[in-house]
Amino acid sequence: MCNSAQDNEAKNSPKSNLSLSVVLPPLAVALLMLAVYVIYSMNVIYPRIDALSPNPSLDPSFIGYTPTKNLTETVLFTIGFNILFILCLISFLRSIVTPPGSIPNLLIWKEAAFKIDPRDEERFRNILNDESFDITQPDVVEFIMTLPVVERKKKDTQYRFCAQCESYKPDRTHHCRICKQCILRMDHHCPWIANCVGFMNYKFFLLFLIYTVLACLYVVLTSFGRFYLAFRPVVHVGYFLLHDIPIIIVFITCVILFFAVGIFLSFHLYLTGAAMSTIELREKKNVQETKHRFNVAHMKFDRGFCGNIEHVFGPPYMWLFPIQPHTEIEGTYCPIPMQYESSVTTDGRRFNPNNNPSSGENSQTSSNATPPISPNLIAQPPNDQASHSSDTPLLLAPTTLDPTPNNHTMEIRNV
Ligand SMILES: [Zn+2]
Ligand SMILES: [Zn+2]
Repeated sequence: MCNSAQDNEAKNSPKSNLSLSVVLPPLAVALLMLAVYVIYSMNVIYPRIDALSPNPSLDPSFIGYTPTKNLTETVLFTIGFNILFILCLISFLRSIVTPPGSIPNLLIWKEAAFKIDPRDEERFRNILNDESFDITQPDVVEFIMTLPVVERKKKDTQYRFCAQCESYKPDRTHHCRICKQCILRMDHHCPWIANCVGFMNYKFFLLFLIYTVLACLYVVLTSFGRFYLAFRPVVHVGYFLLHDIPIIIVFITCVILFFAVGIFLSFHLYLTGAAMSTIELREKKNVQETKHRFNVAHMKFDRGFCGNIEHVFGPPYMWLFPIQPHTEIEGTYCPIPMQYESSVTTDGRRFNPNNNPSSGENSQTSSNATPPISPNLIAQPPNDQASHSSDTPLLLAPTTLDPTPNNHTMEIRNV
């Protein structure tokens, strides 16, 4: 249904966002939805409502059947269809207008100020580079889960950097050449919604697929009798052209969409349950080296099937509603304020470079990995930092300036 977008370094800018090729696909979807709604309502719902009136305007001998006069059935029938249609429409519109998620304008991303302990960095790179490493060990799992960033460049395991956005990439972030920006937890760029499918709108995209499948199934099951009647001998040519032909087209269209979108939806539900994006699935299926890297990084994101579903859809009570589940997290998979602490040493104590005489050597060993951090890291506040005034810059204070016991955390505070 949708084209896969590319994580790329291509510098050629694509067509304008306002070009006809961008507007036409979502417009076609909207028109198709409108056509199905009108034709189904006119030919399946309206005859039922008309039959309840004291003086029905439709002649059963003319339309070919006698609609039911059951009020309860007609009301449920009508409400069911309209609820499915409205939820489908809202999901579609929200997947279009919701920004998929971009890298927060914070200097922790501009300068890679993750403050990963040099020893942890070295340990993690050893794990990444050793395809035979047993990553199922509990202490390894715990270690990887606490790292602020676990996805690295393939060739040298350095932090991933986007030259176009001039920013380091949070985990699961990829650059979309069509949107011309990095997208958090990017899945793909979908021309049918003229938008990327990313962290903030993935739920709406999935709900759009779900309600499309349900609405198509509803239409097919409830209009089969009307579809069958369309093949009766033609009583009136005008009625045949304006009612019978459209209902045949709508019925066949819904059958095709049910299977086509249903397969696509099944694929995405599988990805959701497995905590994978379409891009990450490609990485998993790639060569052994890529697969090992995927498995290492994937440990941080996989919360088990139910946890993965909740991560995308929110708590169960909001699964079926097109409302934003992400109100407190911003999709970088990096805690803010960062609560990362260095890993536990082999003797069971937390490693603290200030107390460890060998830390200087380790820092030097990994100095190429972590860019220097500016003493004053001033950035704009993220959208969800409601506690901060929107025009108040934030100071990201490197913990090296704050000699507290937990000097691996990074604070965000007002200046
Ligand atoms: Zn980018
Ligand atoms: Zn895009």
